[in-house]
Amino acid sequence: MRRPVHARVSGLCLPPMEFDLILAGGGLANGLIALRLAALRPELRVAIVEAGASVGGNHSWSSFVADVTPEQAAWTAPLMAHRWDRYSIRFPDHVRTLDSGYRTATSATLAAAVAAAGVTVLTDAEIVALEATQVTLADQRTLTATAVIDGRGQGAPSGQKPPLDLRAQKFLGLEVELTAGHGLDGPIIMDATVPQLDGYRFVYTLPFGPRTVLVEDTYYSDGRDLAPDVLRARVLDYIAAQGWTVARVIREETGILPIALNGDIAAFWDAAPPVAAVGLRAALFNPITGYSFPDAVRVADLIAGLPSLDAPRVYAALRHHSEKTWADRRFYRFLNRMLFDAAAPAERWRVLQRFYRLDADLVRRFYAGQSTWWDMVRTMVGRPPVPLSRALGVVLRS
Ligand SMILES: Cc1cc2nc3c(=O)[nH]c(=O)nc-3n(C[C@H](O)[C@H](O)[C@H](O)COP(=O)(O)OP(=O)(O)OC[C@H]3O[C@@H](n4cnc5c(N)ncnc54)[C@H](O)[C@@H]3O)c2cc1C
Repeated sequence: MRRPVHARVSGLCLPPMEFDLILAGGGLANGLIALRLAALRPELRVAIVEAGASVGGNHSWSSFVADVTPEQAAWTAPLMAHRWDRYSIRFPDHVRTLDSGYRTATSATLAAAVAAAGVTVLTDAEIVALEATQVTLADQRTLTATAVIDGRGQGAPSGQKPPLDLRAQKFLGLEVELTAGHGLDGPIIMDATVPQLDGYRFVYTLPFGPRTVLVEDTYYSDGRDLAPDVLRARVLDYIAAQGWTVARVIREETGILPIALNGDIAAFWDAAPPVAAVGLRAALFNPITGYSFPDAVRVADLIAGLPSLDAPRVYAALRHHSEKTWADRRFYRFLNRMLFDAAAPAERWRVLQRFYRLDADLVRRFYAGQSTWWDMVRTMVGRPPVPLSRALGVVLRS
């Protein structure tokens, strides 16, 4: 006989529960699904099962406003802790400010929104086994639902999963309070005037407040190794080079995000049991940046719009969406192959510098994954900032 389920929910011990939907992992993708269902399908009994102490972990998630539809920008607006109307890029021979809305959600705003929506959240609940309609926790409790959605993140190096050819965008960021104002009026998305090390290197700076900045030392690398001490020192060097003085370090974050070069998305799904998946588990990320906020917003709308949430239907819908999204993004994976396989690591910055000389609308559509055919032609034509023979090699292998 199955033991009754007593879930620790926000510190309370509740009676046994049955669920319509279990969201395995309380990260970005599942957090947004929970919010969208609470708003549009409040009759559903949804539970988030999270191994950590709270929903959302320790992140900030930034994205361009134009990456999602105006309706999606509106329903995610309450999550945004920071907003800007423009951003800058800096390269050795090219500095530019682009008018494009950029915004940042945080773990704290996501956790607060989920709590306010009244979603059932089980924290400190590590899942050790997962099937299409049930999960087993480390303490051997079993929870069942009409469907389970696996949103447990990329997990142990998914970059090594054979069906997908992935490289890494890796970074370490420090959110710091400065002793005086930084003088920035918007993010610096890429400052590639720094010494080029370990592939394409740039520094990413978000001014969260008049004296508060998040500064990330970032690398587009062939390897996934990340030395926190080295990167932390480089962040502090960069801060000092801007003429800023750190009053205190508020927070540190590190990431090794997937950058997609190639792969067989059907084989990726076939390699796992038929359980619905979202977020990085479903390879739903921007192939160029490894970012997944806009994809997670779209998936939350997709789930909320399904006529019924039985396990086979949810699996089929998410798999189809993931495979179609992957197919639609082959142009961006081709550009990644140009960046990683045709450009010498120390010269990769030239590819990006050339790209940022293009039309602002083209750049906006590029990050939104909405490049037109003409955009693709414009991105590719002209003197390639990589050796022609190596560029041709990539084209021929493609
Ligand atoms: C430091 C950092 C900064 C990033 N910045 C951005 C950004 O600015 N913009 C952007 O779009 N993307 C960003 N990303 C990339 C990507 O959007 C995030 O990684 C995003 O959180 C992925 O969402 P997800 O839902 O797939 O997984 P996650 O948000 O990682 O959620 C997975 C959740 O599952 C839980 N979990 C894992 N295993 C278990 C288990 N066995 N049992 C129960 N729970 C489990 C984890 O604790 C976690 O809470 C960033 C990533 C990192 C690491």
